[in-house]
Amino acid sequence: MTSNLEYLEQNDPAVFAALKGEEERQRSGIELIPSENYTHAEVLAALGSVFTNKYSEGYPGRRYYGGQEYTDQIENLARDRAKAVFRCEHANVQPLSGSAMNQAVYLGLLEPGDTILAMDLSHGGHLTHGAPVSHMGKLFNFVRYVTDPVDGSIDFDQVRNDALAHKPKLLLCGYTSYPRDIDYAAFKAIADEVGAITMTDASHFGGLVAGDAMKNPFDFGFDVVTTTTHKSLRGPRGGMVLCKKEFASKIDKSVFPGLQGGPHMNAIAAIAVTLLKAQQPEFKQYAQQVLRNASTLATELMNRQASLVTGGTDNHMMVMNTMTSYGLDGRVAEEVLDQAAITTNKQIIPDDPNPPLRPSGIRIGTPAATARGMVESDMVQLAEWINTCLRNPEDQALLAKTRGDVEDFCRQFPVPGLE
Ligand SMILES: *Cc1c(COP(=O)(O)O)cnc(C)c1O
Repeated sequence: MTSNLEYLEQNDPAVFAALKGEEERQRSGIELIPSENYTHAEVLAALGSVFTNKYSEGYPGRRYYGGQEYTDQIENLARDRAKAVFRCEHANVQPLSGSAMNQAVYLGLLEPGDTILAMDLSHGGHLTHGAPVSHMGKLFNFVRYVTDPVDGSIDFDQVRNDALAHKPKLLLCGYTSYPRDIDYAAFKAIADEVGAITMTDASHFGGLVAGDAMKNPFDFGFDVVTTTTHKSLRGPRGGMVLCKKEFASKIDKSVFPGLQGGPHMNAIAAIAVTLLKAQQPEFKQYAQQVLRNASTLATELMNRQASLVTGGTDNHMMVMNTMTSYGLDGRVAEEVLDQAAITTNKQIIPDDPNPPLRPSGIRIGTPAATARGMVESDMVQLAEWINTCLRNPEDQALLAKTRGDVEDFCRQFPVPGLE
């Protein structure tokens, strides 16, 4: 029987060639972008399934189209597993991405013009946390807190002062570029003082919460947690809103029909698969190993005189100040490491004097490397390569030789879903 991939190869060689190129790129280099990961073979199977053919507007048992016997089964599975994994009362698994899930929360629980207190983009928050260029930044009154200029951590005196001064309806924590865990009890106490709803955007570390390697905001009485499903959770691209029962109906109406039309049922099938994986002992070990690898990589980089924002990491990522470490801006550092098949991303650092496309740092994370089976001793080798390349950015021979070494090294580590 001809497989789907064989049909693709025969009938659209251009797309097939690009797919093979991307597979080889993912196999041969080290992926250190903290928001990326390798998903499971079972997830790829569900994503490429006939569930993509089905319209399922509405929710299980209340749909606007017939033929929902099996789509209801998978959406119920995904919701029940999400509730079990994150220990919460309600789950909506329909958001098409992380950005849509956050928009659904703001639009469902607040009125346009309401105040939201969230982390500033340049200090680690996400675009959807009220960056002025985002639509949400125009629709709601975002007040944005920054990190402490000395130690780089969240300054709770400032968060509290902002909360008392601006009386936000929603207090949002969570980040896209911040290397420390969150003091949920401190956020919750401030929110209670001003009567704000508490929300964590766990997009980056949702998988580490699911694997019990990081704290769960619901254990501190949080109202709403959002997470992407494709970062540390290792699922398909998508988002979930998890919340207390009292917000369930508003959240569901906000996702559909408020913000979206038909959900992507192939992605929801894949989310169900991801959440079954997340309940296995192997996933808990994976989540722990992500943190051990990040901690080792951070220590080894600092032993080689690299300077990391906040002086290390408690989570899966670190933010390196490449200007003070190596005299290179983040764009150059990213390009130098790319030449050695080590993928990172340029990153603005708190109070960055440089412009966003030439920022002062890079972001490095361990979820993808750990998914390939890399452990602490491999992080020592990685630190050595990163440090040597960034100290010798002009040495083409060295960068080419390192690329060869990295590619040889990577052959020991199968890519999930590809082998
Ligand atoms: C990645 C991320 C998002 C957005 O996810 P997309 O799927 O890219 O839309 C939202 N919030 C945070 C904190 C993120 O890191």
